[in-house]
Amino acid sequence: MIGEDKALNSDYLDSQLVSSMKPGWPKEKAVPLVFAEKKLFVACAIDEKDTLIETLKPMVNNIPIELMEVKKESLNSPAPAPKQEASAAAAPEAPKKKNTLGSELLATLDQIESRSINATDENAIGNEVKMLMAKAAKIGCSDIHFEPLENALIARFRIDGVLRDIYKYPCTKQADYRKILIARIKIIADLNIAESRIPQDGRVTENVDGMKLDLRVSTLPCLHGEKCVIRLLPHENSFLELSDLGMTDDLIPEFEGWLGRSQGMVLITGPTGSGKTSTLYTSLAKLVDTTKNVVTVEDPVEFQLARVNQVQVNAKAGLTFAAGLRSILRQDPDIVMIGEIRDRETAEIAIKASLTGHLVLSTLHTNGAAETVVRLIDMGVEPYLASSALVGVAAQRLLRRVCKDCAEDYKPTEKELKVLGKENDPEKDKIILSRGKGCQNCNNTGYSGREGIFEVMPVNSEMKEIIQKNADIEAIKAIMERENMTTLYDHAVKKVLMKKSTVEELLRVADKSD
Ligand SMILES: [Zn+2]
Repeated sequence: MIGEDKALNSDYLDSQLVSSMKPGWPKEKAVPLVFAEKKLFVACAIDEKDTLIETLKPMVNNIPIELMEVKKESLNSPAPAPKQEASAAAAPEAPKKKNTLGSELLATLDQIESRSINATDENAIGNEVKMLMAKAAKIGCSDIHFEPLENALIARFRIDGVLRDIYKYPCTKQADYRKILIARIKIIADLNIAESRIPQDGRVTENVDGMKLDLRVSTLPCLHGEKCVIRLLPHENSFLELSDLGMTDDLIPEFEGWLGRSQGMVLITGPTGSGKTSTLYTSLAKLVDTTKNVVTVEDPVEFQLARVNQVQVNAKAGLTFAAGLRSILRQDPDIVMIGEIRDRETAEIAIKASLTGHLVLSTLHTNGAAETVVRLIDMGVEPYLASSALVGVAAQRLLRRVCKDCAEDYKPTEKELKVLGKENDPEKDKIILSRGKGCQNCNNTGYSGREGIFEVMPVNSEMKEIIQKNADIEAIKAIMERENMTTLYDHAVKKVLMKKSTVEELLRVADKSD
């Protein structure tokens, strides 16, 4: 199934896996789910487990298979439909048949800027790859995708969470960029260029245009060649100051005060993709000096920090967050960073560490600062321990910035003033906001780049009392309000009034009731 003649693509792997099963694959007994960690995960019925492995292995070029037991009935549910984009490349049984939606997508290819490079000039090929990496790094792109189509290779960038087509490389027999460019990237990432039938991945640091880039490269065999994705990992230098993340001067002294403590626990919370890891790393970078032993336990280690001892979680080998943390505490640490607190055991060890002379930083997956306290107690942490340990909690989200190239000033409507809490402001007529008209640089979205909004909640003595008693969210929120602590909503309002973002974006990201 992972053969060169079959279509696979990380974006729609599960449906593609299903539709590309080899003839003779026992469909009623085994359904491939996902290819991850260099293994193919296959769902199978409980009583079939032993016999299946031997049948399936030769059909997938002997790559390791992990069987996941499911009820027999669930194997017969219909496979998810492949995404539109896949239609041209999928369905080996009927390669000629293209649906209308797929054809329309292919028609948009005409609009992508076309590049041609001398296919026999090694330098030109190397420079093209470096040019793409430099361009991506400069505009803050997180991933570069190379997608092989029937007669072209498309380069796409993921910017602010959205993929955009950047260049197209039309391919001929003499100049097949699907092979030439991908081979060059594989050489850079130290992958096996002779092997194009199985997925590969690697990690490398490259110097491009004076920038040091940490790259994670992965390849995946698809119908028209190998698809390659380069993830640009954030680099140490990208985390200099809290203000670069969007924290404003009214919040920074409080937050930095927490980081200056010799013991206690500081938590950063938010959903996935809210930027909390960047805040954690920026905080840690501020704390590193030659007099301190800074240790982290992470899953995964997202990027390397100088003079920090970073431990990678390896659950299979028994090195869990909790186990790692226990070992770290025997190593005389001053500052401990835990990538994420997911369970009671980790929470308890972390709290005990923060009560015995260590500063502990971590993240938790909750919506707001007040909820975080309650979540810890729901996890089973003793309220008196939580209340003693917590120094402060910062909740955060990412807000899109108005594109500087097409920003225009405008007078807000009454409705917008109300959202901003300014409907009764005597100065409301003077308020001017900003919005992006849309231009080429922002792909007509009116936005370019993102920055954080923060809710910074110091856990004061009054809160500690409430946490010990019953940890009531509403009571904690009441204190926040009385003490004029900035909420996520307040901070988003501030960013809109500073003309950095828009009312529309505020409403998308922050909820007044939070
Ligand atoms: Zn623009």
